[in-house]
Amino acid sequence: MIDVLGLGGASGGTPDPVGELICSSKGCRAEAAWGLLWNNPKLHTPQRRKVWLACDEHREHLEQFLGARGFHKRTVPVEELERQEPA
Ligand SMILES: [Zn+2]
Repeated sequence: MIDVLGLGGASGGTPDPVGELICSSKGCRAEAAWGLLWNNPKLHTPQRRKVWLACDEHREHLEQFLGARGFHKRTVPVEELERQEPA
């Protein structure tokens, strides 16, 4: 099967750079260990990957939140994410 759209499957896409490595879960200020890559096809181009950061405690909760909406693509260690330049 030829991937005519060039989406590259689940491993494709370009994650947005991330700033401070703090968990994205509401009210949590823990250091993030994971980057959850997601895409809302109604809002984002297919190659775009929004990034939510998660600590170990909230990774599963956030994955389920995105997964329930069909937005979750994959989860990577924060070491693999591109970092924003400090302002
Ligand atoms: Zn957290």
